[in-house]
Amino acid sequence: MAHLLAGVGFDLHTHSAFSDGTTSPTEIAAEAAAVGLAGFALTDHDTITGWEEARAAAAAHRVSFLPGIEITTKHNGASRHLLGYGIDPAHGELFAALGEVQVARLTRLKEMVRRVAVDYAITLEDVVGAGDVATVGRPHIADALVAKGYFADRSTAFEEILHPRSPYYLGTLAIDTREAIRLVTEAGGVSVLAHPAAFRQRAAIATTDIAELAASGLWGIETDHPENRADWMPPIVEAAARLGLETTGSSDYHGAGKPNRLGAHRTQAAVVARLRERVTNPQ
Ligand code: AMP
Ligand code: ZN
Ligand code: FE
Ligand code: FE
Repeated sequence: MAHLLAGVGFDLHTHSAFSDGTTSPTEIAAEAAAVGLAGFALTDHDTITGWEEARAAAAAHRVSFLPGIEITTKHNGASRHLLGYGIDPAHGELFAALGEVQVARLTRLKEMVRRVAVDYAITLEDVVGAGDVATVGRPHIADALVAKGYFADRSTAFEEILHPRSPYYLGTLAIDTREAIRLVTEAGGVSVLAHPAAFRQRAAIATTDIAELAASGLWGIETDHPENRADWMPPIVEAAARLGLETTGSSDYHGAGKPNRLGAHRTQAAVVARLRERVTNPQ
C-alpha cells in the first residue's frame, strides 16, 4: 500500500547538472517520488536554469516543487551559502548580481584549470565541454580529473588537490551575505542559511554572525544537513530559537557527486507551508 500514500516531508536543497549535481531536474523529480518525498526544492548554485524542467517533471511525478537557489556569499570574511526560495525570476537587481558571480566563476575556473594542467593533463574542454552547465565550479574540475583516471571520485579529488589550501586553489567572487538577503527579500523570496556547521569549515558560524544575518532579514537556518557537525550545533539551534528563525532539514543532493542521498534529511510540510505564505513564487 505504501505506493498509494502521499509523500512525507520536503527536501529543500538539491543540485542538478545545471550546476554541480550529476542528474537532471527530471531525474531528481522521479527520485523524489521514488523515495516518498511530498516535494523538493531545486537549489542549483547561482542559477535558476533548471526550474522549468523541474516544475514540469514534478507535476508529472505528482510531487510538489519549490523554486530555489543557493547563492555564493560571504559574511565577515567567511564563505557562506545562502538558500533563496520563492523568488521572482524577473527581479533585475538579484539576477544582475548573480550574473556577475557566474562570469567571475568562469574566469576563476579557467585560471584554476591552467594551474592544475601544469601537473595533470586536463583541458578546459574536458572540464566544461559536455552538457548545459550554467554554473561552473571546482566539482567540474574534479569530474574531469576522475574521467582521466587521476582520482577515484570527486571527494578524493577535493581532498587531494582542490581544497582551499591547495596551490591550485583560487577563491571566487561572492556577494555580501546581508546584501544577498536583501536582494532575495526584494525579489519576493525568503533566505535560509545553508549548512551552518559544515565539518569542512574551520568552525561553525558564530551566533553573533547569525544575529547580524537575522537583523538583515534571514528567515531560516538549515539545522539538519548531513555535513553539519553535531557537536557544533547546540548554540546554533539555541540562537535560531532565540532569534525566531525557522529551521529546515535537507540532503544537499548532488547525484553521484556526493554521498548525500535525496530525502535522507527533510523539512516538515508545516514549515514549507509557512514559507510559501511569505513568497512571491511559491511553486
Ligand atoms: P566552488 O563553489 O566552485 O568553490 O565549489 C564548491 C562546491 O564543491 C560545493 O557545491 C560543494 O558541495 C562541493 N564540494 C566541496 N568540497 C567537496 C568534497 N570534499 N567532495 C565533494 N564535493 C565537494
Ligand atoms: Zn554544490
Ligand atoms: Fe553549499
Ligand atoms: Fe548545496
